Amino acid sequence: MFEKKEPYQANSPAIPEILLGANVSVAKTGLLAAIQETISYDANTYMIYTRSNRGGNARPISEFHREEGLSLMQNHGIFDPVVHLSYLVNLASPKEDTWEYGISILSEEIQRVEYLGFRYIVFHPGSHVGQGEEYAITRIAAALNRILSGTEKVTLCLETMAGDGSKVGNSLEQVADIIARVSHQEKLGVCMDTCHNYSFGYDIVNDFEGFLKQFDQVIGLDRLKCAHINDSKTPFGSHKDRHANIGEGSIGLEALRRIVHHPILRNIPQILETPGGKYKSEINLLLNRPLVDAPSALSIPL
Ligand code: FE
Ligand code: FE
Ligand code: ZN
Repeated sequence: MFEKKEPYQANSPAIPEILLGANVSVAKTGLLAAIQETISYDANTYMIYTRSNRGGNARPISEFHREEGLSLMQNHGIFDPVVHLSYLVNLASPKEDTWEYGISILSEEIQRVEYLGFRYIVFHPGSHVGQGEEYAITRIAAALNRILSGTEKVTLCLETMAGDGSKVGNSLEQVADIIARVSHQEKLGVCMDTCHNYSFGYDIVNDFEGFLKQFDQVIGLDRLKCAHINDSKTPFGSHKDRHANIGEGSIGLEALRRIVHHPILRNIPQILETPGGKYKSEINLLLNRPLVDAPSALSIPL
């Protein structure tokens, strides 16, 4: 097991640090590929999918080169990677087989991620596909109650959504409502997504503090475990989920920079999911680093 940064805790001896990385590929060599890609971005955290979003059987987790990966991470100062659950899981599905499939895939993913020694699985709460919000919230909570025994080492992070389609978990209240109905709430966290939040109608551009205040009142900031940092191709409140490159969308570079550097996000993995392989320059932009190949200086003070 590698030395992991402690999470955001009052008694944490860890030096608060900006953890910024991207959604990287595990093709062929598993963690080694993901970490090499992360190193190439001068990043210090990352996110992976351990199974294809096109379905099929998952690659055995024993083929992910865990030991070499964890020591490579240690040598390069990479911390707290996150796993994103397959998009094919819909824990709100009214269809019995789809719902059961979701439960088995997430249960299996918990095992896989615990084997890797990572702390977080991010997942989309679900889509009600016509059954309504209340139905979906009950259904997701029932699935989580089936999955969680309370002995898990990982935290399952509900991702806040954009309000597109029939998704739930868009408002902070909906997310809180799901959490409230789960027995082992101590195993649940939240992953904010700047594109989704802004698209849904939280004005994180002009009032990120207000968003955090609401988050704290409705959910509690202690549940904020991960952030997805994306610009948005669509306007404020559009209820669409179209990620744009950093600085090229309706949120803009300055607002995203403010978020990335906010003290509340210190030590919390922040992950880019933007299109088109520009991660290295986007990370440099967000960290105010020179846009040339220069020695890494990840901990930039405010
Ligand atoms: Fe997501
Ligand atoms: Fe996201
Ligand atoms: Zn999205």
